[in-house]
Amino acid sequence: MHASDFTATAPLACDLLVRADAVITQDDERRVLTDAGVAVADGLVLEVGDYADLDARYEPVQRLDMAGRMLLPGLVNGHTHLPMTLLRGFADDLPLMDWLQEHIWPVEAQLDEELLGIGARLGCAELIRTGCTAFLNGYFHEHVTGEAASACGLRAVLGEGFFAFPSPFFPTAEACWETIRTLQARFADDPLVRTAVTPHAAFTVPPELLEASYELAESLDIPWQTHLAESPTETSVCLGKYGMRPVEILRTRGLLSPRVTLHHCVDVDEREIARLAASGANVVHNPASNLKLCSGMSPVQDLLDAGVNVGLGTDGASSNNQLNMFRDMGLAALVGKVRHGDASAVGAQTALDMATRNSARCLGWPELGRIEAGYPADMIALDLSSPNLMPVFNHVSHAVYAATGMEVCMTMVAGEVLYLYGEFRTLDVGGLRREAARAAKWVRRASGK
Ligand SMILES: [Zn+2]
Repeated sequence: MHASDFTATAPLACDLLVRADAVITQDDERRVLTDAGVAVADGLVLEVGDYADLDARYEPVQRLDMAGRMLLPGLVNGHTHLPMTLLRGFADDLPLMDWLQEHIWPVEAQLDEELLGIGARLGCAELIRTGCTAFLNGYFHEHVTGEAASACGLRAVLGEGFFAFPSPFFPTAEACWETIRTLQARFADDPLVRTAVTPHAAFTVPPELLEASYELAESLDIPWQTHLAESPTETSVCLGKYGMRPVEILRTRGLLSPRVTLHHCVDVDEREIARLAASGANVVHNPASNLKLCSGMSPVQDLLDAGVNVGLGTDGASSNNQLNMFRDMGLAALVGKVRHGDASAVGAQTALDMATRNSARCLGWPELGRIEAGYPADMIALDLSSPNLMPVFNHVSHAVYAATGMEVCMTMVAGEVLYLYGEFRTLDVGGLRREAARAAKWVRRASGK
């Protein structure tokens, strides 16, 4: 026997071999494999394919038999404010401006790091439970959310939010820029946590500060994100203050580029859509939040048809009131049809693309959102024995239209299982319940309600 014969038949090593009834790969061909397996090593997918074939060739350290389930890439939340779980259900049924100015901002200004930590951990628990493995955040004292995500094993892009200066958080722009630089340095060696520059919006941050912050993002070579064109009311405010609509404010300052991720883009016209497409800027659609605050319905299919990369986000838990990407995926498809008067608008595959590959690009992390050899092993499993997922004709259809998120029975990031069959492996959920009750008392006191 020659050495080469031995090499050809020796089992291949891997850390983990996962078996499932089906794998929605979200690869370039959008293949859905049945009776499939995924081999994982060093946090990356080694190979995806027929399970019997992988089983014959690999000798894994561990096996995860998910027969009766389907795997899909971990969902990517393109826009959220994680610690706002603290304000879930605190102020409902209000339009955007009233909601922000009268109810949210006065309480937020008093939040301390301990409370933010509780909110961030609650948010992480909900993301893990509903199959989300990475998120783009925007809030204050972002190192707290970074530490929560890292401890839970989730991927996060942190956005230290700012308005005009002085503010309750930053006396000057330079103090804010320094905080962002420190944040980036603090997590430089953490493979799960990155940073983005995050001005709140074109109606709350003056154009010259938007521009200065963009230069900071360029110098640090990180994404730049902001809320934009969220509602017709915002457009009126921008027209009154600057004589320009929100997209024009950014365009005239040279702030539209592939580095940029814009949240909402509900009130955008045909010319603005063409300009967004030409610039390579990314857009995140937040259907539940837009509906709840009565902000309007984004022309998502028009944006996609024009060539804009449109991801999907939940927004914060106080304007949604969930961080469940499955609900927003379903809503994106349903609302898209009504917005365009066309039942074929925003189809199931499009909605799943938005929640995976497209959102990954919005995070500046394009290798996420797929199950493919050489890419991060971030994946989730849905239990196909749930009555609402039977029978199966089309796995993608079930993920978008039939699943609620509660069928998620496994969540994995970089090959590490964070949640399996009801058990959180990186979080103490009982402890979190007590902390949440304590935080609710504080919110009531702080709001004077
Ligand atoms: Zn938001």
